[in-house]
Amino acid sequence: MKGSCERRSMRAAPPPIKMRTDAEQLGLPFLPTPDLSEVFRRVFSRLRIKSPVVSIGARFHPFAGLRSTIRVRDGAVKARVSDVLTEASPLVLEALAEILLARVFHRRPSREARECYLAYTFRPAIRSRIDAARRERGSKRLLPARGHHHDLEEIFHQLNDRFFDGEIATSRIGWSHHHSRRILGHYDSGHAAIIINRKLDSPSVPRYLVEYVVYHEMLHIRFPVERRGQRRVVHSREFREAEKKFPQYELACRQLKQLCG
Ligand SMILES: [Zn+2]
Repeated sequence: MKGSCERRSMRAAPPPIKMRTDAEQLGLPFLPTPDLSEVFRRVFSRLRIKSPVVSIGARFHPFAGLRSTIRVRDGAVKARVSDVLTEASPLVLEALAEILLARVFHRRPSREARECYLAYTFRPAIRSRIDAARRERGSKRLLPARGHHHDLEEIFHQLNDRFFDGEIATSRIGWSHHHSRRILGHYDSGHAAIIINRKLDSPSVPRYLVEYVVYHEMLHIRFPVERRGQRRVVHSREFREAEKKFPQYELACRQLKQLCG
């Protein structure tokens, strides 16, 4: 969760893999990797972008999850696309190219492109590749749950009994290595891990505040990310309603805002 009770969804955490292995296991003929730069050049000219561009290059990159980046420097466009998508159809790759190019050239991607890309990334097979990439490539080093002032594991079990009938399962919970100014907590579905910002492990932070942040991350397990039309809904209405059941909800929101301000 971010540093306040803001309604905005978290960044598409956003998030690649050994597709080759999958294809081999399924005994499918091995498909040639598409020429990504060509895809981007094609979409660039279709969008009729007027900005002067000297070159366009794009390649697959083994990100720890479904993540793609683009930048323009001195007229050169460089994109890196999650290698979870190496087997995606040309249509899906074109849709992503449109989304990325639109982002960097301040356009609005078409509805078709957004729908096409989102539909592909929500396929169960793709979701499990994304999770596998996160698990294998992401570094999820946590500090132990028992901090100097608050014990996350104890808080987790207590909340689990009190609000979830003990039904929330997670493999790990721990403190982050780094202090982040804005991210107070995070649920990583690839690692089934809850990570809480170490800055909350302080004598000046009352226990109920830590409880609230852990509770919020537990709700991410109870209410996984949904797809609604073209949007990924991270904090659904059900999520927000459940969040308000936390006894000191209002107070916790105010205090967390101050803490991150
Ligand atoms: Zn959240």
